[in-house]
Amino acid sequence: MPSPFHFGRSLVAGLTMMLAAIPALVSGVAAETSLDAVINDLVAANRILYRQGVVDGFGHVSVRHPANPDRYLMSSSQAPGRVTKDDIMEFDLESRPIDLRGRTIYSERFIHSEIYKARPDVHAILHSHSPTVIPFGATNVPLRPIVNTAGFLSPEVPVFEMRRAAAGSRSLLVTDTKLGKALAETLGNRTVALMRGHGNVVVGPNIRRMVSRAIYTEVNARLQLQALALGSQVIYLDETEARAGEDNRDKSERGHSTDRTWQMWVEEAMGPGSMGPGSPGR
Ligand SMILES: [Zn+2]
Repeated sequence: MPSPFHFGRSLVAGLTMMLAAIPALVSGVAAETSLDAVINDLVAANRILYRQGVVDGFGHVSVRHPANPDRYLMSSSQAPGRVTKDDIMEFDLESRPIDLRGRTIYSERFIHSEIYKARPDVHAILHSHSPTVIPFGATNVPLRPIVNTAGFLSPEVPVFEMRRAAAGSRSLLVTDTKLGKALAETLGNRTVALMRGHGNVVVGPNIRRMVSRAIYTEVNARLQLQALALGSQVIYLDETEARAGEDNRDKSERGHSTDRTWQMWVEEAMGPGSMGPGSPGR
């Protein structure tokens, strides 16, 4: 029979082990919850961008892994409007899938890995064929912010030209590391880059801001075309006005700005009640 001393020592040792395990349990739960929340947002982002006409059967959305900055998450090769949680896969920064399991993957995934490598501040990326931006990539009329919700287009929106990045290329698709790197260089430290004859990329510090920017890039392009059609001088936002609008969104609180529109878009894309606990958007 163990002595009271031995029992006491065992109890202390047991308690010590339990206490030591608590931080691991807590951080394990926190990491899991956070990853789950990010995947929910990623699924919602795919559906929202389809509903908003930013992507169609093409285009892809990614998010940097919340616990490992050298990985990112993206759907297997699916039309964005059909993406579910089961489709979400993990990739390294060479765009190699961690667990392929026979699934097909997007050929232009190198867009994402090369931008994540070049931009530590970026945690979410969209590549789309957002229709109204196409004329601004194919002419010498620059896309510029005309509305307060698109201040992130300041100071400029560069255009990626495949003929410069890959002389002699017969394709406009970014299907390898070299082309992805060239696109990331064109983007530089900006928020949006157009791809001539193809589409654009939009980046953000998180999924919600990136989705908002992608939607308002399309809205701004539409408004700018309308303003240009009036044939008068167009007054664009100056850099101070553009920055003020973005600062406001940086301070976004629950029920305001990005958060308010995100809730509405999630409910539209995922159905009524989808903002409940454990559902996409939470
Ligand atoms: Zn594309």
